[in-house]
Amino acid sequence: MGAAKYKRVVLKLSGESLAGDQGFGINPAVVETIAKQIKRVHEEGIDVAIVVGGGNIWRGLSGSAKGMDRAQADYMGMLATCMNALAMQDGLQQVGVPSRVQTAIEMRQVAEPYIRGKAIRHMEKGRVVIFGAGTGNPYFSTDTTAALRAAEIKADVILMGKKGTDGIYDSDPNKNPDAKKFDELSYSEILARRLAIMDSTATSLCMDNDIPLVVFNIEDYENIYRAAVGEVIGTTVGG
Ligand code: UDP
Repeated sequence: MGAAKYKRVVLKLSGESLAGDQGFGINPAVVETIAKQIKRVHEEGIDVAIVVGGGNIWRGLSGSAKGMDRAQADYMGMLATCMNALAMQDGLQQVGVPSRVQTAIEMRQVAEPYIRGKAIRHMEKGRVVIFGAGTGNPYFSTDTTAALRAAEIKADVILMGKKGTDGIYDSDPNKNPDAKKFDELSYSEILARRLAIMDSTATSLCMDNDIPLVVFNIEDYENIYRAAVGEVIGTTVGG
């Protein structure tokens, strides 16, 4: 075991990251690859809580853009995150890491309901906890869920794996070849510059509760381990 910088981390996995190159749905081989990295983190004695997104299956906003009721579309999005949570649990099981799924919308036949104290207890017993169904409320995102759960379980940091970027830039690097990457940044700068790294609700929640964030490229899966043991990668926010 190395001298890990963090004792407890929230790993935010976007839905997209579970889809791999297929771009949609769940790729079990990718899930297992991610699970292997989480296993390495777990073996360092670091408590791991995972917040999964749902964008690989459904996003509420795309439904409402096509005329659906926003809240209804968002509930569908939250259910999508639960499928990802179960897939992640399966991946962890394949590599021998004990885990529990807790969902913010009750579905007791497949997962525990979210109970903060129980989530902490699971981690103390060496289990990885996977949070599904976001916050349980429409009009929120799983980035906000990561911020909320990190505050609740007193995590040291949120590790946010992104596809298509290796950190936060001052403009879109895919459109602007002169875009500059930040090594460090404050939450107020993200808000002031309107950087589209996560929504403003999530950003404010992290800022108000002093939760550091590390944004890194998840396409190099080893980055999950590097970020969790405190290697300087991607962009670090707050502190
Ligand atoms: N969602 C929601 N409330 C929450 C979290 C998520 O309504 O607290 C819905 C929302 O429709 C969102 C979808 O679930 O679009 C999937 O989550 P998100 O877009 O954050 O997933 P990601 O982009 O990380 O894959």
